[in-house]
Amino acid sequence: MPLDLNQLTEAERDAILSVIKRDEDLKQKDGDRVRQVPSEIKQLRLKGVLKDGQDSETTCARCREKFGFFSNKGAICPNCSHKVCDKCQVRDTEKHSFLCILCSKQKSVPLLLY
Ligand SMILES: [Zn+2]
Ligand SMILES: [Zn+2]
Repeated sequence: MPLDLNQLTEAERDAILSVIKRDEDLKQKDGDRVRQVPSEIKQLRLKGVLKDGQDSETTCARCREKFGFFSNKGAICPNCSHKVCDKCQVRDTEKHSFLCILCSKQKSVPLLLY
């Protein structure tokens, strides 16, 4: 039986309409979140540009933090081949691998946004 709003009491109708509205609000919020990601990626790209005199062997390609001798030695991102510090590695526990924060973000953005 198709839903006929006219057959409902006013209270029921309001309840249904508010559910529909909440659903639309949520979709809207979700859209905003997705739209924010590319600008986040731009920021990371800008931040990740090493300046002259900065050695990619000793400096994180993403946040430019210096690597330590014993801890935070950095690791090469398998996707972009940049060496990044522990903080800028996003672990994929299922695959026992990691991506740098930039590659990981880029992967999370649907391709149609480009
Ligand atoms: Zn870093
Ligand atoms: Zn990477």
